[in-house]
Amino acid sequence: MALHLKSAPTKSFTDTAQADVADSVRSVIADIRANGDEAVRRYAEKFDRWTPDSFRLSDEEIEQIMAGLDPQVIEDIVFVQSQVRRFAQAQRDSLTDIEVETLPGVFLGQKHVPVQAAGAYIPGGKYPLTASAHMTIITAKVAGVPRVVACTPPIRGEIPAATVAAMKLAGADEIYILGGIQAVTAMAVGTETIAPVNMIAGPGNAYVAEAKRQLFGEVGIDLFAGPTEILIVADENADPFFTAVDLLSQAEHGPESPAVLITTSRDLGEQVIAHIEALLPGMSTKDYAEPAWRDWGQVIVVDDLDEAYALADSFAFEHVQVFTENPREALEKMHDYGALFLGENTCVSYGDKVIGTNHVLPTLGAARYTGGLWVGKYLRTVTYQEIVEPASSAQLGEVCGRAARVELFEGHARSGDARAWRHGARSFGW
Ligand code: NAD
Repeated sequence: MALHLKSAPTKSFTDTAQADVADSVRSVIADIRANGDEAVRRYAEKFDRWTPDSFRLSDEEIEQIMAGLDPQVIEDIVFVQSQVRRFAQAQRDSLTDIEVETLPGVFLGQKHVPVQAAGAYIPGGKYPLTASAHMTIITAKVAGVPRVVACTPPIRGEIPAATVAAMKLAGADEIYILGGIQAVTAMAVGTETIAPVNMIAGPGNAYVAEAKRQLFGEVGIDLFAGPTEILIVADENADPFFTAVDLLSQAEHGPESPAVLITTSRDLGEQVIAHIEALLPGMSTKDYAEPAWRDWGQVIVVDDLDEAYALADSFAFEHVQVFTENPREALEKMHDYGALFLGENTCVSYGDKVIGTNHVLPTLGAARYTGGLWVGKYLRTVTYQEIVEPASSAQLGEVCGRAARVELFEGHARSGDARAWRHGARSFGW
């Protein structure tokens, strides 16, 4: 029986705020569709007070921005990108094309073909999310996408220099300082200066996520990667201080980022709450972390780990850390999550910033039906077929004629009849 040491959310994500977001997104998309660059410029000014001569950075500007950075920043970006690239390449290598001969001379095949143009959205309203550049752009490039357009907003009126460096080093073909609905829409529908892309990937706030949702169909999207979520499953062996620190590491993403602890130990739960209360006042990001914890934080005590895993699954959260005696058992016992972090030696922050798995992950329950961003999201799994043995074509033609007529498809049946006739020298009677 679950006991709530800290209670359930006081709000719901599906309330009127979400409806308001949807309405604003709809009107911005319609305006940009009708008025192109002029509308993009108006919204960049309205939402970000951003009025540069050109949203696109030139090679010279990029070079200059990178030259102004601390060399350690560049070195760290290069290190992290090598981690991300290595894992993405292993994912690509795991996808093999296949071709099978199902009847004599009948070949059926499957290939993975990259989309030809992708948009990478790198968030930057509250924090310059440099790491999202590695995640979206490197993954696209490893998949083989020839044109990658990357957009990130200005942060408090400034170009986010480290993010620009990461975009460039990751291999972006076009870099724009442009954010929010206007960036997503410009990439999706195209404007006079931005050619449209075929799919858009990357995380973002509620406006970005809603813009991707409304434009889906016209462009492909990776997944719904909205406000960050963390859940920790812990037993009595967990370190309460680490647990508290890690819960707050994600609450700081924004005031609507839930942080949840499910534990078999009431004592641990109480200690974690006390640590969080002690840590919050000293956090420079408490303006986000504090309301997130107050409104969305939960601490739930359960009877055993099986109950903990089942309850954790019901949240279907983006990130799940497992601080138990045998964390690997979560790989078997849990099913609904974006990414698992096993044991106290790693944490969501490693996943977010350095370790190399992709940090663009499903939120708001999307983990029930999708994993996170990976090379495969930029690839289309397409099939082909060929018959080089006429007798097999005749055999399939006869079956096709009969099968299509069962469905009352006379035209389909005739395509089969014609081949049965040509290769089998049979008459078809029409
Ligand atoms: P952002 O880049 O997503 O959004 C900033 C943009 O929002 C601005 O450029 C502005 O144009 C637009 N905007 C702001 N207020 C607006 C308004 N009232 N109307 C219309 N547009 C408006 O950056 P952010 O806000 O910092 O959000 C980043 C989000 O990404 C966070 O919620 C974070 O948790 C999330 N995130 C998710 C993942 C994931 O994989 N799920 C990963 C990293 C980050």
